[in-house]
Amino acid sequence: MGMNAEAIAALLARGRAMLPGEVWLAGAGPGDPGLLTLEVLGALGQADVIVHDALIEAEVLALARREADLVFVGKRGGRPSARQQDIAARLVAEARAGRRVLRLKGGDPFIFGRGGEEAVALAEAGVPFRVLPGLTSGLAAMTAANIPATMRETNQAIILATGHAADTCGALDWAALARTGQPILLYMATRTLPSIVAALLSGGMPPETPAAVVVGATTPDQSVIITRLDALAEMDVPSPAIIGIGEIVGVRERLLAHAGRMLA
Ligand code: SAH
Repeated sequence: MGMNAEAIAALLARGRAMLPGEVWLAGAGPGDPGLLTLEVLGALGQADVIVHDALIEAEVLALARREADLVFVGKRGGRPSARQQDIAARLVAEARAGRRVLRLKGGDPFIFGRGGEEAVALAEAGVPFRVLPGLTSGLAAMTAANIPATMRETNQAIILATGHAADTCGALDWAALARTGQPILLYMATRTLPSIVAALLSGGMPPETPAAVVVGATTPDQSVIITRLDALAEMDVPSPAIIGIGEIVGVRERLLAHAGRMLA
């Protein structure tokens, strides 16, 4: 690596130091440690305690300081995750105990991961904190599957939506989303997929609209299934998955037609 390694070390050294009593609310990206930001890598090397979800890959956690305590607060084996208020309380308690706390979430901390709620809780508790962006899995999954999220010929917008029915903001108007004609990237939709598909169809989205299911995007187990909107309803989709629906999915075929040129 030579000079390159030195330049990276210099960049890391230039980063902000994590102070005792601070919480850094960070996104670890979609899975591949290569997609961590240098800032998060630096935080992994400084934190006394790392509070993380289920979707954080072991390879990412392996970058933590050896002395760091790893606290798991995600879902495991079908059991419910720690209650949101318990997680916030834990972050506040760790910070007040004078520890350097890294709250590590999958993807970007402020996209569908309740990072916003945690930030509000920290702010209300008066705990010093900062937020570190990460690459969100919806966009990473498309690119990793060779699907451009935007193309001049197909779309001018991209919709990120959660399939997880929120109890706080009511049902989403899927038919209205369908009428925009813009592609939709679904997070957390493995269980609610049949009803989402029905709503999109009733909103006028053509049944043959191409769809891609990207499971474990950017991890060694990544798999990509190409199908169409109507067929999604009968699919048993493994988790974690991003489901992309729209003409953008068709572009992948054009790229793969010249697969000899595409590197793994
Ligand atoms: N904050 C995260 C999303 C949290 S919600 C982000 O920005 O990516 C959790 C959902 O993210 C999962 O149900 C799944 O839909 C998606 N997800 C996270 N990691 C993924 C991955 N590696 N591959 C596919 N989907 C993923």
